[in-house]
Amino acid sequence: MSPSSSGIRLPEAVERGEEISPTEVLAWALERFSPRVLMTTAFGLNGVALIHMARALDPDLPIIFIDTGYHFPETLETKRRMVESYGLNLIEYAVPPSVEEDEIRSGRVSFTENPELCCAERKVEVFQRVLEELEPIAIISARSQYQSDTRRELVPIELEGRPVRVNPLASWGLEEVKQYVRDQAIPYNPLFDRGYTSVGCWPCTRPTEPGEDPRAGRWSDQDKQECGIWLVDGAVVRQPQPSSGPDPNEG
Ligand code: SF4
Repeated sequence: MSPSSSGIRLPEAVERGEEISPTEVLAWALERFSPRVLMTTAFGLNGVALIHMARALDPDLPIIFIDTGYHFPETLETKRRMVESYGLNLIEYAVPPSVEEDEIRSGRVSFTENPELCCAERKVEVFQRVLEELEPIAIISARSQYQSDTRRELVPIELEGRPVRVNPLASWGLEEVKQYVRDQAIPYNPLFDRGYTSVGCWPCTRPTEPGEDPRAGRWSDQDKQECGIWLVDGAVVRQPQPSSGPDPNEG
């Protein structure tokens, strides 16, 4: 390994511009950042595949699930089946107040009135709480380039900003993910068999048509493509940049 311009040692193969497997990316991240590394998931198809890979390397890896209050029952059932099958170290963050309390209190249905505010309150602020309480140096996500235009240039290891973002499935395609889930008999959200190609909150998710981007069914009637969790300074990160953040070796 050799140090990058930010001081972080990337795998040598990545520095040479070579592709390494999702398991190799995971192993690098776990070896380098444990115990201050975690994975976030909403138990999508990519998510269950990556959880399966990660728990084989580290059964105690914290898996973070943000319960927005608007998840499909099928998503919650997938979560339950994954925990039952693999005994995950699942840490759930719920959003106070509940959807019902919030709607009674404010007299509005937040996702229809203002999806940006709804995502800010029910995802981004909760995610900030995760960062403050658990202080991860690195976060593993199951995002892939195939999912949308905003993710087309996603790289396996994003160095800019803190925490470091690790995307082991960055270059995997949907068919590879499906094949892995099938081969390993991993529980998955049955909505993926009913025309859904990305599953978020039920008010903001519809099935997609053939030829549409997998994430085209998310906020499809809105000028919105991301919930905001993965934006850095308001933008989708496309290439690693030198970072002035804290030393990732700390802790
Ligand atoms: S995806 Fe929709 S329902 Fe979920 S937090 Fe965002 S706006 Fe609210």
